[in-house]
Amino acid sequence: MRYIEPHGHMVSRTTDDYLDMVTAGCEAVCEPAFWAGFDRSSADGFRDYFRQLTEYEPARAARYGLPHFCWLCINPKESEDVGLASEVLSLIPEFLDRPNVLGIGEIGLNKNSRNELKVLERHVDLAARTGQLILVHTPHLEDKLKGTRLILDLLAADSRIRPERVLIDHVEEHTVRLVLDRGHWAGMTLYPISKCTPARAVDILDMHGSGRLWMNSACDWGESVPLAIPKTALEMRRRGWTRAAIDQVIYQNPIEFLSQNPKFRLNAGT
Ligand SMILES: [Zn+2]
Repeated sequence: MRYIEPHGHMVSRTTDDYLDMVTAGCEAVCEPAFWAGFDRSSADGFRDYFRQLTEYEPARAARYGLPHFCWLCINPKESEDVGLASEVLSLIPEFLDRPNVLGIGEIGLNKNSRNELKVLERHVDLAARTGQLILVHTPHLEDKLKGTRLILDLLAADSRIRPERVLIDHVEEHTVRLVLDRGHWAGMTLYPISKCTPARAVDILDMHGSGRLWMNSACDWGESVPLAIPKTALEMRRRGWTRAAIDQVIYQNPIEFLSQNPKFRLNAGT
């Protein structure tokens, strides 16, 4: 089996997790900027974090021959403070040319507040001005449908944004169609309890097909499983999916989306 982990918060994981992922067939990991397990007190905390994402994590992954990529932003959970968000937004361009940076993300909404929307709009503007790919986080549970609609409308209102260069993550049964119908890519997050369990994710694939869809573990500070993708592949196998059809979802699809940024490359010979 081979797969791409397109959304893993590796700063929250141990080095043993990298080893397990590579052993299971992981050929690249991508890490969107997110919460650090605590609210950072200043923009300097984000500068250090962006260095961690662009210098230290790629080096930690490289010990196992695993290419590590990242996305940059101030995440919605910390963007209620518009002053702090402005300072972080002005830092991001310094890092965009670094070799493992794929785009702006994971931006989006958490509680669907006015300030979060303001900061989301500024990130979308930054991505449009600098030609970056976009990765979007959608809110959890009862806020998800409303938040997804707000995000899709905001993106559609900006004529500079090409829908196929935006992936909307954490879709579920009630949001996947909305996202695909707008021409975006959609991500399913495989959590043991909330978001999508492996069985629900395979149901969604069975119902909607596998075009413009990927799966990720989003392994982070909460209960989450770094090997969720290969474990879900076993569930697909159990249900009669062919090896080629599984490979399409867990390997070819992420490569197709991510390769829109030419900096996304697998190791030679893989
Ligand atoms: Zn995430």
